[in-house]
Amino acid sequence: MSAAAEFDVVISGGGLVGASLACALAALPLRVALVEAVPVASAAQPSFDDRTIALSRSSRIILDGIGAWGEVAALATPIRRIHVSERGRFGSAIISAEQQGVDTLGHVVASRDLGAALWARLGAAPGVEVFCPGSLQSPTVEQAHISTTLDAARSGGQLRARLLVVADGARSSLRQALGIAATERSYEQTAVVGNVAIAGAPSASTAYERFSAEGPLALLPFRDGRYVFVLARPPAAAVAALALDDAAFLRLLQDGFGHRLGDFVQLGRRSAYPLSLVQAQDITAPRAAVIGNAAQGLHPVAGQGYNLGLRDVATLAEVVADAVRSGADPGGAATLARYAELRRRDQRNVIGFTDGLIRLFGLAAPGMGPARGAGLLLFDMLPGAKRALARHTMGMAGPMTRLARGLPL
Ligand SMILES: Cc1cc2nc3c(=O)[nH]c(=O)nc-3n(C[C@H](O)[C@H](O)[C@H](O)COP(=O)(O)OP(=O)(O)OC[C@H]3O[C@@H](n4cnc5c(N)ncnc54)[C@H](O)[C@@H]3O)c2cc1C
Repeated sequence: MSAAAEFDVVISGGGLVGASLACALAALPLRVALVEAVPVASAAQPSFDDRTIALSRSSRIILDGIGAWGEVAALATPIRRIHVSERGRFGSAIISAEQQGVDTLGHVVASRDLGAALWARLGAAPGVEVFCPGSLQSPTVEQAHISTTLDAARSGGQLRARLLVVADGARSSLRQALGIAATERSYEQTAVVGNVAIAGAPSASTAYERFSAEGPLALLPFRDGRYVFVLARPPAAAVAALALDDAAFLRLLQDGFGHRLGDFVQLGRRSAYPLSLVQAQDITAPRAAVIGNAAQGLHPVAGQGYNLGLRDVATLAEVVADAVRSGADPGGAATLARYAELRRRDQRNVIGFTDGLIRLFGLAAPGMGPARGAGLLLFDMLPGAKRALARHTMGMAGPMTRLARGLPL
């Protein structure tokens, strides 16, 4: 067998999170390999598809810091207000950028546009070598390195690195090969996603989150005055909704959301995503770190998955940068322990918050509906509670990385 190709960091998975890490590490004097199974421009690319991503304020700052915001800025729609309500109940809550003293709470961007921007940035990064299509197998830990085998289609060569990063999604087989167990709990819901115009609606910068007994409906402002919808329903209801013709589906959406904004018209293409909570039991193994959906796959109700994954990226890039600068080992036990320690709280809080929302609004127990309505109303009047939630939504709760503070890595 030919000699192994040597790198400092090998990343498995060049989706939203893996490509973001490669862009971040490109600022460091490191040899980085990025191994991605599906080319970015392929219609089958699972990370850069029809979904849209609500980026938190801190994600926008991180993307700027890794050189990927410039390309998407013109395609991104700002969110200045978030309106949370429950169908048939009086209470509602509003978080606004103005109240929080910021210009925007976040932005909405198509994942395809974000993927194209990240990969364009990688094309201009001399320290990053891309293997695509490709995938890695059989990780073997040696004392100062970890070796993996590129799949047969790529001649079965070996890649050797000081750090292997697993960023290949919620169903990662590499994570399993490293001995990291994961749990999966289905939400018994499928998200139906698409975009729509609303006749007569003013130019939009408000995101709506509307809960109902059947599941949540999110409506996000999108470009050209359109809105993106994420409608979560039990799997059979989602299949039925997908089978409806456009006029009947528009009625279903209108019924779920109400008429406060106007009439729903001009439906775009619909796509479906089964929803579950996937949690890796560890986010490190010897010479390996797990990030993004490979570490935690969330329900999209609160739009937190990529935002959380990007904070994994900013933290891992920072501990690697610190190790490189101090002459320490970027894949050594101390670096990995620091990464795990710094991520624990944020991951636990966001998983708990997202899962808690689904449970709270899914409860049909007597008295729960009015209690939730009153809760939303009360919450709207409590500036302290609102500020805490707003800081979570903006990705600004807890200790912040240099990239999230707008500083160089
Ligand atoms: C309907 C919906 C709406 C969402 N909305 C939001 C939102 O508003 N805000 C938000 O923050 N998040 C949102 N998310 C979550 C977000 O999409 C994910 O958190 C994000 O895609 C995770 O990125 P990732 O790169 O970790 O994993 P993935 O997106 O799963 O990408 C994994 C990558 O690894 C590649 N891969 C897989 N196996 C291999 C292998 N063996 N070898 C090499 N490569 C491999 C895949 O081809 C892919 O490119 C939403 C999700 C859904 C389903």
